[in-house]
Amino acid sequence: MSNSNSWLEIPQSSDFTIYNLPYGIFSTNQNGKRAGVAIGNQIVDLAAAQAAGLFNDLNLPAGVFETGQLNDFISLGNGTWSALRARLTTLLSDENAGLKAVADSVLVNQADATMHLPVQIGDYTDFYSSMEHATNVGIMFRGKDNALMPNWKHIPVGYHGRSSSIIPSGTPFHRPKGQMLPAGAETPVFGPSKLLDIELEMGFIVGKSTELGDTVSVDNAKDHIFGMVLFNDWSARDIQKWEYVPLGPFLGKNFASSISPWIVPMQALEPYRVASPKQDPQVLPYLQHEGNNSYDIHLEVYLRPDGGEDQLISKSNHKYLYWTIFQQLAHHTVNGCNINVGDMYASGTISGPTKDSFGSLLELTWRGENPIQLKDGSERKFLQDFDWITIKGYCQKDGQRIGFGEVTTQILPVKD
Ligand code: MN
Repeated sequence: MSNSNSWLEIPQSSDFTIYNLPYGIFSTNQNGKRAGVAIGNQIVDLAAAQAAGLFNDLNLPAGVFETGQLNDFISLGNGTWSALRARLTTLLSDENAGLKAVADSVLVNQADATMHLPVQIGDYTDFYSSMEHATNVGIMFRGKDNALMPNWKHIPVGYHGRSSSIIPSGTPFHRPKGQMLPAGAETPVFGPSKLLDIELEMGFIVGKSTELGDTVSVDNAKDHIFGMVLFNDWSARDIQKWEYVPLGPFLGKNFASSISPWIVPMQALEPYRVASPKQDPQVLPYLQHEGNNSYDIHLEVYLRPDGGEDQLISKSNHKYLYWTIFQQLAHHTVNGCNINVGDMYASGTISGPTKDSFGSLLELTWRGENPIQLKDGSERKFLQDFDWITIKGYCQKDGQRIGFGEVTTQILPVKD
């Protein structure tokens, strides 16, 4: 690994190398919420760096890093993102460029920081873009013969989710209650969900707004995306199954979704672009694009019983998604729906072709028929109270590595 391309000490296995420079919002005992960029085990406090004069010629508005979210910075546009990224690269690689001299007041240990939601999320949309996932769920819910609905290979299927319950890594949530129809019963019951599940997803954040009536073409979609995060779209399968016909997901989904706190910029992900799966039949012209439109991002899911140890339960990859993020955004806006800086788009569960690459417990245990054996001797069909789930993601190539860190969440019992 050539991760040591900085005067700062960066651990060999770090996700936060000089090639990454992801943005987040953090606070410490000394300071309230402010914007930062992760590097190694530390954070560049952007507000402190600005105060120290390190960005003087970049035309950044006063206070832009102290608003408690990144929306105002993101709204300055991709010329500003690129200029700041270039400046940070210089400051971190050249020890005489000015940062080292003020490191005591500008660098913060990640261990001393609390991470918050990085953006104020306006709208949240969740797609359903993995063919393997849609097929697996279709087989379980409808049988093998019509697993994929007739529209699935023509439309990046999605629904409008709920942004109020998106939480950052480290924030626990309570097991949801709701209506469900027990097997064999004719009338529903009310109670705690018994089939609480994960969805291994990734999300992207809008970096450039549009006006009502505008459309974003598939070729211009990249200009409207700021960066990506890990996304765990918690799902109550029993509530979902009873409610989802005819209008789709509702209370089985909107009680919580967890994201990793560092937004990895699209510029950092550029070297990891790869081809997406071939689409057959051919999609309509407004969804057609050429070249490498997916990303080779390794994804891992770990389950930890409370007091136990992390156990790897799935390994997948962003590149398995049938629909690309550019097609998702083009489709979402083709009717004139406007988008805003800070909007969040999630991919849908990212399942791969093999059983160990499925992105939900529903699939990994095949509706609970094949429970996961844990090292402590217990087993899981779905999640238990106090279980921890961690998703990690990283890219690696030519001796360089960038990563997303992790999103870790504990499930609490039903709230009385
Ligand atoms: Mn989902």
